[in-house]
Amino acid sequence: MKVAIFENDGEKSQKVGKELYQKLTDAHIVIDNSHPEIVITVGGDGTLLSAFKHYQDNLENIRFVGVHTGHLGFYTDWRDDEISDLVTSLQSDNKQSINYPLLDVKVDYFDAESEKFLALNESTLKRINNTMVTDVYIGDQLFEKFRGDGLCISTPTGSTAYNKSVGGAVIHPELESLQMAEIASINNRVFRTLSSPVIVASNDWITLKPTQSSDFVFSIDQEIYHNRQIKAIKYKIAKEHICFAKYRHNNFWKRVNEAFIGSDYAD
Ligand code: NAP
Repeated sequence: MKVAIFENDGEKSQKVGKELYQKLTDAHIVIDNSHPEIVITVGGDGTLLSAFKHYQDNLENIRFVGVHTGHLGFYTDWRDDEISDLVTSLQSDNKQSINYPLLDVKVDYFDAESEKFLALNESTLKRINNTMVTDVYIGDQLFEKFRGDGLCISTPTGSTAYNKSVGGAVIHPELESLQMAEIASINNRVFRTLSSPVIVASNDWITLKPTQSSDFVFSIDQEIYHNRQIKAIKYKIAKEHICFAKYRHNNFWKRVNEAFIGSDYAD
């Protein structure tokens, strides 16, 4: 088994990364950051997002494992004081894994070029200085004309991130679906949107056709793109998945409770 270690720049993550490197070497596990079968991230959910971007061209061969060095995350199953247990689990690995959906994003530009992206959490389209106006299609049907600050299209695992902050629903990560949440829509006698998040099934897709403008802020997870001449963006569930090595069971709703409510939760 070939393992990569992907840590963030934080002092604690660097320290834990070194400890992990030593323990893996002692256990005769090969460290290979170029062609890994397992990628262990050390940091937070943001670190896992960075690792996903780094290795996204090789997703079919990789399983991810997240070690958190701060608070409990949604992509991080292991605490930093559990790395000996993690190494033991790696030694008895029998390819246990769990897959989660990703967002396929295709952007068409006015110059006829197009570009494809994969998102783990979400993609957003926003306009900061003026109202964003865009036609929203579900499948091939025009659904509404949106006016407001922007729209956030998220995966189930991304539903606890930016989506939740803008009023989207928390979705169990095993549901193959994508969600569109509004960011400050304008609703009055003249302009009307649904005003609630929309969750579409895996065989559906969402297309945004904004009015021509170049001052959009378009994002894919941590990446932000400015001033693109966007003609249309098509969102669907990707054929690719992210795969996590599953050495232990973590109840999703327990994690949601711990992250956002903090009360005792019986597993
Ligand atoms: P950041 O601004 O440094 O961190 C944003 C926060 O979102 C961090 O606490 C991060 O957790 C958490 N997070 C990331 N993915 C999550 C998930 N799937 N479920 C629950 N929480 C999650 O940005 P970043 O670390 O580069 O991460 C980029 C992500 O931040 C974006 O994809 C977006 O979802 C999120 N974001 C949220 C808001 C908001 O809620 N208003 C605004 C901008 C961006 P860790 O501390 O464990 O890394």
